[in-house]
Amino acid sequence: MEQGGDLTIVKPLNDKREYKRVVLPNALQILLISDPDTDKAAASMDVSVGSFSDPEGLEGLAHFLEHMLFYASEKYPLEDSYMQYLTEHGGRSNAFTDSECTNFHFDVNADYFEEALDRFAQFFIRPLMSPDATSREINAVDSENNKNILVDAWRWNQVWSKF
Ligand SMILES: [Zn+2]
Repeated sequence: MEQGGDLTIVKPLNDKREYKRVVLPNALQILLISDPDTDKAAASMDVSVGSFSDPEGLEGLAHFLEHMLFYASEKYPLEDSYMQYLTEHGGRSNAFTDSECTNFHFDVNADYFEEALDRFAQFFIRPLMSPDATSREINAVDSENNKNILVDAWRWNQVWSKF
């Protein structure tokens, strides 16, 4: 067992990784996991807002914001430079919008984690949303929705999320 803030982290005996929980002054909760035997590093940001929070008349807003965040930030304004950075350093990235949360994540070769994390964090600190990317992603989100609306598994997921 390891102490993490006010939580005790319980892990299997054969799990050699180290865990630590940190809560920042802005209330952001962080779970750090250290595994010196891996050559990859990864991060995930989970925001407790999903499609159930979409205001009436703006259905798809959470999903749209999920798409928009990965374009550019004030610090890294070149569109898609985040994805390019990850690809060049053995990494990848993805995100999803669920009913009650939106999740963003990436992995990258461990030596490049610090800059990758800074690029990732800037999307949440000062994102850049150009009018050009905005209209592109409105269309992308709309076509994704039109494709998924016919799939029963998505409706099941929404129904089960209500309980
Ligand atoms: Zn999408």
